[in-house]
Amino acid sequence: MAERVLIIEDEEDIRENLAFSLKREGFEALEAASGEQGLELARSGKPAIILLDLMLPGMDGLSVCRHLKQAASTAAIPIIMLTAKGEEIDKIVGFELGADDYVVKPFSLREVVLRIRAVLRRGREETYTSEVNSGALTLDAVRHQAWAGDRELDLTLSEFKLLQNLLQHAGQVRSREQLLDAVWGYSFEGYARSVDSHIKRLRAKLGPHGELIETVRGIGYRVKSKS
Ligand code: CA
Repeated sequence: MAERVLIIEDEEDIRENLAFSLKREGFEALEAASGEQGLELARSGKPAIILLDLMLPGMDGLSVCRHLKQAASTAAIPIIMLTAKGEEIDKIVGFELGADDYVVKPFSLREVVLRIRAVLRRGREETYTSEVNSGALTLDAVRHQAWAGDRELDLTLSEFKLLQNLLQHAGQVRSREQLLDAVWGYSFEGYARSVDSHIKRLRAKLGPHGELIETVRGIGYRVKSKS
């Protein structure tokens, strides 16, 4: 079955071009011209992924993203933000909002399609791995749940994938590049800081168990092995 992409974008030309290209690539496209309409379609249309414009009239993209990530029915849907040059990338890709990726305007339609495929592929690969744990940390990819001790964690999709990758390699150092590749499917300059932001946020959510994620200076991060 064709995977459904929800496009939330007020600029009609961009929205229609995206929908046209996506359909040509074998996707199904849902279109929303405002944040409010987008939220509604995210709930009712069950998209596999959402393209979300940052600058929207009325409810802006940041608010829409926050709402999507807070609601249980939409929290697991990956989001790719459409941003203009110069907008604060760190803020968008996760530290505060939990979007999975972003594309800077003006973008090529081909680039957007590649990003969508990368994000969806990551999601699929992770569905096949079972429960992983180390010490007090447990993660179940199939149920999409993670726990620190008895407490269930409320993680964004990126944080979830980051923790999953660290746990799958417990006791080993993971470089920022490896983490980038595992969580986002590719890496390029400027993203390293984004890994640090996600780790910081993840540690905070783990509470006292946050110290299980060690910083390996000059390289990356490691989750302490069970021992
Ligand atoms: Ca716009």
